[in-house]
Amino acid sequence: MPSFICETCGVGFAPSEKPPARCPICEDPRQYVPPSGQKWTTMEGLSRRGMNAWKLVEPGLMGVGSEPKIAIGQRAMLLNTPQGNILWDCISLLDEATVDIITALGGLSAIAISHPHYYGTMVDWSKAFGDIPIYLHADDSKWIMRPDPAIQLWQGETHQLADGVTLIRCGGHFAGGVVLHWAGGGNGEGALLAGDIVQVIPDRTHVSFMRSYPNLLPLSAPAVARLAKALEPFEFSTIYGAFFGRDVVDEGKDVLRRSVVRYLAAICSDGSPELE
Ligand SMILES: [Zn+2]
Ligand SMILES: [Zn+2]
Repeated sequence: MPSFICETCGVGFAPSEKPPARCPICEDPRQYVPPSGQKWTTMEGLSRRGMNAWKLVEPGLMGVGSEPKIAIGQRAMLLNTPQGNILWDCISLLDEATVDIITALGGLSAIAISHPHYYGTMVDWSKAFGDIPIYLHADDSKWIMRPDPAIQLWQGETHQLADGVTLIRCGGHFAGGVVLHWAGGGNGEGALLAGDIVQVIPDRTHVSFMRSYPNLLPLSAPAVARLAKALEPFEFSTIYGAFFGRDVVDEGKDVLRRSVVRYLAAICSDGSPELE
């Protein structure tokens, strides 16, 4: 039986004879079902459509994304650590070339994902590399559409994946929203792999935060304040966003701090147009 993949969010579902009736992730107000209705594909369908492209982001960190874009269009990242390669976030297309490239780079030892929009075909990725563990925050467990023994739910505020590699629960966009802190990244000054829990905006001088990106629903002020507090103990100069090119490459922590101030000022204001 195939694992059907939602065309809009790119998430793979538990194998079934027929396509599932609905996609709960897309019916949630943080995503959307297109006006043309719910559509499904399979890994075979995606493989015929395109390929994965790779980019070295900094030594020890590569991004991988599908061309042409599939579903939301995020990138995943392959982080090299002394304890093995970690896949941060996931994408939907896993073709033979991708398996061969990762195998040549030393394989995969774990997968960690920021939030349900980027679960992709995580179980296929895990199986391709020997049923490696998939670390998801327990607070988002209701959004797992393909349960599997490889999924390791973690609880609480931080979880260490490898030396200098820590998952941090920020919440916000999703209750279990997670970023990955890589102490050795950012040329040794620390890097955040942020998914869209912290969204790098086009000019890269700020980041922002939303409950729903497609539906333009902002995050509450207390939620953004909690997110800022969760990140305060960690040092980082670089913030790698969810998409190629969306990277803050210097003074990342200052960028985050001033972005939080700007966001809170905007969302708590009385709406006066003079506010910057
Ligand atoms: Zn969906
Ligand atoms: Zn999202």
